[in-house]
Amino acid sequence: MDPLALEYSSIADFDVGVTLGTGSFGRVRFATHIKTKEHFAVKILRKVDLIKFRQVEHVKSEKAILHALSQDQHPFIVNMAASFQDPCYIYMVMECVIGGEFFSHLKNARRFTNLTARFFAAQVVLIFEHLHAKDIIYRDLKPENLLLDKDGYLKITDFGFAKIVSFKTYTLCGTPEYIAPEVLLNKGHGKGVDWWTLGILIYEMLAGDPPFVDEDPVGIYRKILTGKVHFPRTYDDYAKSLTKKLLTADLTKRYGCMKRGASDIKRCNWLVETKWEALLKRDLDTPIKPELSSITDTSNFEEYPEEIDIAKPPIYDGPDPFENI
Ligand code: AMP
Repeated sequence: MDPLALEYSSIADFDVGVTLGTGSFGRVRFATHIKTKEHFAVKILRKVDLIKFRQVEHVKSEKAILHALSQDQHPFIVNMAASFQDPCYIYMVMECVIGGEFFSHLKNARRFTNLTARFFAAQVVLIFEHLHAKDIIYRDLKPENLLLDKDGYLKITDFGFAKIVSFKTYTLCGTPEYIAPEVLLNKGHGKGVDWWTLGILIYEMLAGDPPFVDEDPVGIYRKILTGKVHFPRTYDDYAKSLTKKLLTADLTKRYGCMKRGASDIKRCNWLVETKWEALLKRDLDTPIKPELSSITDTSNFEEYPEEIDIAKPPIYDGPDPFENI
């Protein structure tokens, strides 16, 4: 067992604080390691619910992928320090990304300036380049899965849909507005889906809403398959050109999916001036600096009622599928 895991092997080693966010099967809470006083975000998932909603394999894969990625300590990917379990819960101890959800910052701003959107898009390019080099497809890019760290750099979280694939996979997943046409057509999909979602994210950052919206998912899917994107007048021309090249249904023409891979995106007119090395070293000025009074200031996150989780969930009445993970 690695030394980190020994150090952080039980939730009793932590002072568990406020909820930072919630997911379908549990919540993420601020926590301080009692001995070292280090701060973390602990994802706490209820085993009974994971079993009931058939999420066991997703969680196992999320944990394995986060564990593998954490060896690299990529600056824009949330790192996991340890994971452990007890009869009721699975715990994932992650670095705490204290600047709040990118989603909230985008909603507050309504839309970002061209420079701000470019700064964040460039980080997503570096994230996907890193994941794809390891044959990991992320499959769930959206503003809700990006966080801002204390300096205003991005960190991507939630690897629940991520998958290790070298060629194609067939599972339908993602958020309706961000689903790529090849996923809808069930033709098998690969790394290209992530580049499609980058196109949607760039559009949402610059226009304030995703390009394909409708009251019901079927309407959204119809618009995705039609592929017609309306750009507001304020939308930068170079950004528009890249957005169109990412939101291209034909995978042989979509940027990111061709012979030169991510470098077609990195060299496009909109991103060509990005200082990629400096960005990766987090050596640039950031356009949004989260307001923080201290490293334990959680005010950039929404407030959640805490009483809901006081009762422990029942222990699953059967063989524990999480044994030995
Ligand atoms: P998830 O279930 O991974 O999507 O996380 C649910 C929510 O918890 C996110 O939308 C964030 O608000 C919060 N969260 C997740 N991971 C972290 C983290 N490492 N640091 C701070 N907040 C987090």
